Amino acid sequence: MRESAYQKSRRYLGEGRVILTQVGPDRVDAIVRGDSAIHAAGYRNGAWSCTCPARTANCSHLRALRLTTAVDLPRGAPWETAESHLPAHNQPLPTETPR
Ligand SMILES: [Zn+2]
Repeated sequence: MRESAYQKSRRYLGEGRVILTQVGPDRVDAIVRGDSAIHAAGYRNGAWSCTCPARTANCSHLRALRLTTAVDLPRGAPWETAESHLPAHNQPLPTETPR
């Protein structure tokens, strides 16, 4: 199955590929090691940016970076709704019946 952008961002974070170089109340700078290149990603003047070719605020690097930050984002933003399409992680496992 193809890895979704959300899954990829979680993997980047888990693999230590996100390096925060500067964090402030209205500014975040980071280096994100992608699958093929290293990108400079960050948040400045109210906008996310990344040097990867995707040219979108929803690339996997910025998704990974956002997982590490507490920048006050509006609820219901596009990058948040992506998560709601994933199966819940905390559902109880089916109980095994002894035979
Ligand atoms: Zn990117």
